[in-house]
Amino acid sequence: MFHISDCKKYNRCHRLFALDQVREREPFQSFVRMDETIADLAARKLGITDCFRGERNDDPGLAMEALKTEEWLMRARFEYGGLRVKVPFLHRVNDRFDLYFQFNGMYPRNDDMQFYCGVVWVLEHLHIPLGRYRIIHLNAEYVRKDQLDPEELFIVSDSFYNGHNNPTIRIEDAVKANMRDLTAVLKDMALLNTDNMPEPFRTQKCTGRSRCRYYEECFPHETTVPDNSILNLTGARYRYDMLKEGIETLKEADVSRIEGSRMQYAEIMADRSGGLFADKAALSAWLSDVTFPISFLDFEWECFAVPPYEGMKPYMVLPFEYSLHIMEKDGTLRHRVFLSVHDDRREMAESLVKDIPDHGTVIAYNADGAEKLRIQELAERCPDLHDRLLSINERMKDLQMPFTSGLVYDVRMSGIWTLKKIMSLMGERGYQDLDIHQGMEAVFEWRHLDQEEEDIDREEIARHLREYCGMDSYAMTVIFQWLRSLAE
Ligand code: SF4
Repeated sequence: MFHISDCKKYNRCHRLFALDQVREREPFQSFVRMDETIADLAARKLGITDCFRGERNDDPGLAMEALKTEEWLMRARFEYGGLRVKVPFLHRVNDRFDLYFQFNGMYPRNDDMQFYCGVVWVLEHLHIPLGRYRIIHLNAEYVRKDQLDPEELFIVSDSFYNGHNNPTIRIEDAVKANMRDLTAVLKDMALLNTDNMPEPFRTQKCTGRSRCRYYEECFPHETTVPDNSILNLTGARYRYDMLKEGIETLKEADVSRIEGSRMQYAEIMADRSGGLFADKAALSAWLSDVTFPISFLDFEWECFAVPPYEGMKPYMVLPFEYSLHIMEKDGTLRHRVFLSVHDDRREMAESLVKDIPDHGTVIAYNADGAEKLRIQELAERCPDLHDRLLSINERMKDLQMPFTSGLVYDVRMSGIWTLKKIMSLMGERGYQDLDIHQGMEAVFEWRHLDQEEEDIDREEIARHLREYCGMDSYAMTVIFQWLRSLAE
């Protein structure tokens, strides 16, 4: 018995599908918190008070039986031709059933047609008369007040949305246009296993939206490529072709077949210059308006699909920690850290404006994509601190910029620009000594505190979180000093 997720894997890569059939997988930990049962909230929006509720591993005969008597069916399981589907909502209207898909994001697009078509294919083959096709999704404009309001939290639409978030093709029309008979595919899937699966073959599907979990296994030779391998040329479409032709290193890159970005230029020049490239003039210009005391700032935050606190929208983030290293002109450092559980945005904003000097440059890593946004959100939350908070943003520079703009490159970075990677070149003890090694691990640890789990050592988790976030802001001080030394 297959699910639509199996069909998607099969479509992406037959080998991936075959491996997934036999391999144990780590339990999935979502990047986004879904504390509320969104389906139950959606049911309230749809006015459902009484219904048939499907469960995992249900005999599909149960749902077929419920069709005879129930007005609403929720999460009902149906099967046909070896494919099992979970149907979010079916509503009897006269002698037909309106079909409601559920989308846990804000703008459902017609890019997951395999899922929608698979559900309809099963229902049609079971001769269930379908009426209207709709989708219930989160409302991007909803702002939570004291209580959650499912009526406002959701939108019911009969259309998908385009890239500008405007309604576009009707769901029913899109499904009908994309419908394919799945009989042959399901038969082929049943015959495929790890003995007859295809050999690895690299395509966009191996590294596309997310890197395939079997990538290292399929292409083991790539996990040990030298730092200056042509495969580390950032964004180079023809790097595999060049490698096949015997061009192995960055310095040998065929410049007529690269995109010519500043990052690529820095990478090639670094290899040609013995491993390090620094555009001293541009770096000096970047450093010229940095003034002391310098505040190195880093936030950690959680993301919630359903807003848990007043003033939050769907998928809005909740900052729970910041670390601040303040560097004086003589190089001395002071460290401040704020860590909270639950909603302490007010306390965080007050603490930040108290801790951070009211003059001097503020430095963050990926400032535009993270720290500036967190401060903007805190400013909107705390109108009385609005101006003081936004003045921090006005003084903020992005430490990532010298790397992403190709002002500096060390081949040992092997095409990676994270704080952790760059810090590893500095010869200092760094992230390897910590219990938390990356941002999402910090979030997963914080969840233990926020969800008030029993049998956890709260002090120890808090210590690990302080150490991790503290290392991020400390790493920035080390990298900043390195850039200064390069500019000299
Ligand atoms: S790495 Fe590529 S070839 Fe290997 S299983 Fe994944 S998608 Fe298939």
